[in-house]
Amino acid sequence: MVAEFKLLGTSAGLGVPAFHCNCVACREALANPKWARTRSGAVINTEEETILVDASPDMRGQLLKEGIKAVDSLFITHWHYDHFGGIGDLEYYVKLERKEPVKLFLPPSAVDSFSKAYPFLEDVFDIDTWEFEHSYTFGELKLTVLPANHSIETGGILLEARKSIAYFTDTAGLPEKTVQLIHGVDTLVCDATFNGPNWYPHSHMSWEEAIILGQSVNVKQTVLTHMAMHYSEPTTVAEIQDKLKTNKQVAIAYDGMSFEI
Ligand SMILES: [Zn+2]
Ligand SMILES: [Zn+2]
Ligand SMILES: [Zn+2]
Repeated sequence: MVAEFKLLGTSAGLGVPAFHCNCVACREALANPKWARTRSGAVINTEEETILVDASPDMRGQLLKEGIKAVDSLFITHWHYDHFGGIGDLEYYVKLERKEPVKLFLPPSAVDSFSKAYPFLEDVFDIDTWEFEHSYTFGELKLTVLPANHSIETGGILLEARKSIAYFTDTAGLPEKTVQLIHGVDTLVCDATFNGPNWYPHSHMSWEEAIILGQSVNVKQTVLTHMAMHYSEPTTVAEIQDKLKTNKQVAIAYDGMSFEI
């Protein structure tokens, strides 16, 4: 194993349970904390570095739960609150503990929004922008940012070492170029926001659509993430598992789920 990829959060924007809700999904998550979901993000641990993908509003709790004590780099996939809302919590870590900036890779179109929202974080980060199809290397691990289909400029992350993982947390299908570049990856961790009809077919996918995408990209395993569970029809993990009984190539993500690369 060259690196570990771990899902810190696996829900869509509202989290499961949602504080205002008593649907079947929320009741299942309250009864069985394995199926409680914080907002989506991930961590990549290499021997030398800890790299975060997104800083969800739940980031502080996620870092505590997973015992992550250092952060070296942060890639923001896109400038939606559920993916950047926790970024301010790194200020205290950098100023009190690390004493040097964390490397921050923003979507090029998000630099202005970042500066307007967080002028006080400018010396907390060494700010850069990621570039589509550009690869970053961390020891033997190669990380490439690839285009997703979402309502704003959004990157997916392809990780390659001994194994390969493509992480597309917010996407509606994939652009043709991306499909070519991730064809045959071991694992596709994919947007599976909806259960049943998809309200935002240009921004997100249903879990059924995510499975079809995984098959069309010829992946060994599709992992369903960014699951709202509430819409358009509230469902439970038990129900989805039941529908997936015979499909060994699909897994339902949970917070803390980890993969070797
Ligand atoms: Zn999202
Ligand atoms: Zn609910
Ligand atoms: Zn989004």
